[in-house]
Amino acid sequence: MTEESAALYVVPTPLGNLADLTRRAEEILRTVPWVAAEDTRHSGPLLKQLGAQARTIPAHQHNEHEAAARIVEKLQAGEAVALISDAGTPGISDPGARIVAAVRAAGCKVIPLPGPCAATTALSGSGLLDEHFLFYGFLPSKGGQRRQALEELREHECALVFYEAPHRVLETVEDMATVFGNRTLVIARELTKLFESIHSLPVAEGLAWLKEDPNRQRGEFVLMLSGAPANAESGEGERVLKLLLAEGLPVKQAAKLASAITGAAKNALYDLALALKAG
Ligand code: SAM
Repeated sequence: MTEESAALYVVPTPLGNLADLTRRAEEILRTVPWVAAEDTRHSGPLLKQLGAQARTIPAHQHNEHEAAARIVEKLQAGEAVALISDAGTPGISDPGARIVAAVRAAGCKVIPLPGPCAATTALSGSGLLDEHFLFYGFLPSKGGQRRQALEELREHECALVFYEAPHRVLETVEDMATVFGNRTLVIARELTKLFESIHSLPVAEGLAWLKEDPNRQRGEFVLMLSGAPANAESGEGERVLKLLLAEGLPVKQAAKLASAITGAAKNALYDLALALKAG
């Protein structure tokens, strides 16, 4: 192996398209003596296809502590271990975080590899313009808790990224429409697979769109919502900025003060002040 050997390699695996396994991931899976896998039966075909000789260690949500102890043992004996989940990046709405924490706490090396992840794949194809995003993962499965969680996210000025299972997508999109009113919803389904689709629409229309064709409710989903409009655009920041400019303050100072007074983003107010001056 060309990489450092006695380390825990956190290895992302494809979401659906096998060609998305990176060359580095392939080399590591083929050469490490141990692979810790969320579901050893599920990962078997991938490892077999790569010609991997590794022995497997089950590492799922219900045995992460024991798995971590076994992995630390292997690392301390000088053997490398690769950690994989069923699909995508381990530790991202998947088991793995506890194992990584235990390995780091034991003073052993953790080497994470970049690679497939449904959240970043979906976001990069969403067309959402928000500068920041918040990855939430799975919302609570119970309606009341889900709506409460969504309410708490309503004022965030960043895009929101959720994972959702097909049997809950209708109720979740319905709740999103109730809480978020007129935001943009992007529904990314079956990424990297045969029936991949990415569709954006006003969140209020999401439920009807999904119901129009039962195929739209099948498969794996990433749901994304555009963020709350920034204060600068939504009123208070702009109002204060205009007052300060009317008093003759220079653009930079007006933006700085309006930001301090209202909490609106300084850069957005600065851009707005320049636009107001120009227009
Ligand atoms: N660790 C994975 C990752 O890095 O994306 C996520 C694992 S989580 C248990 C599974 C969820 O990820 C699915 O319910 C779905 O929301 C999302 N997901 C996984 N594969 C997907 C795909 N091909 N298309 C859309 N969403 C996907």
